[in-house]
Amino acid sequence: MDEERTRPESSQGVSEPLLRLDAISKSYVQGDKQLVVLDGAELTVYAGEMVALVAPSGAGKSTLLHIAGLLERPTEGEVYIADMPQSEASDRSRTLTRRNEIGFVYQFHHLMAEFTALENVMLPQLICGEDRQEAGARSRELLSYMKIEHRADHRPAELSGGEQQRVAIARAMANAPRVLLADEPTGNLDPTTSDYVFKALNALVKQSGIAALVATHNLFLAERMDRQITLVDGKIVEL
Ligand code: ADP
Repeated sequence: MDEERTRPESSQGVSEPLLRLDAISKSYVQGDKQLVVLDGAELTVYAGEMVALVAPSGAGKSTLLHIAGLLERPTEGEVYIADMPQSEASDRSRTLTRRNEIGFVYQFHHLMAEFTALENVMLPQLICGEDRQEAGARSRELLSYMKIEHRADHRPAELSGGEQQRVAIARAMANAPRVLLADEPTGNLDPTTSDYVFKALNALVKQSGIAALVATHNLFLAERMDRQITLVDGKIVEL
């Protein structure tokens, strides 16, 4: 489908490209062989847009998410986060950008067992130097947005899978990132819970104007996102 027509627009009628991958290549050396995983991958995700990345195992989804999330450097090409090129940035600067501008959601929630739901959402903000009271207020707001505020004082073990994942999404949004990267965010949930978590995530993306890239095997969920892409021979192809 024509990207121009499907691109969501902000209230000003102009949508910002918040994540841009420009001619990204990534190879790994395995013994005396070179494994080319990404080969000139191109992608732009705009503010308020949710893009589904659907591809078979081994196609390079995790590699792509790691590069977009500044966890790995590409062999070639440039990653732009809100128009800022990242390839020449120092490790320190990339860490700060990752902390402030990028939220991650994984298949397993990775919440910290000894902290409550509220504290789990507060932690990233405290690490970034946010005042405790402010961090608490924002965390309650995010939990309330994910309709889980009534469980704020419970530890992860006392929450259901869907509740844990909603807390994990609230945590990913804690520092008001501009880009959200998710790897099978509902992969571990039953269909009803998965649907509920997806709706909450989608509402949050639209409301906050974040750019979301979501790797999933769930074609039903993928179809409900704004765009679907796949990886073919290391290149991104629109579905
Ligand atoms: P997906 O997430 O789509 O399953 P990955 O991005 O994990 O795919 O992996 C793509 C290919 O790259 C696989 O063949 C995998 O074995 C290889 N690969 C991933 N990471 C490394 C690494 N650090 N070293 C060597 N090969 C890797």
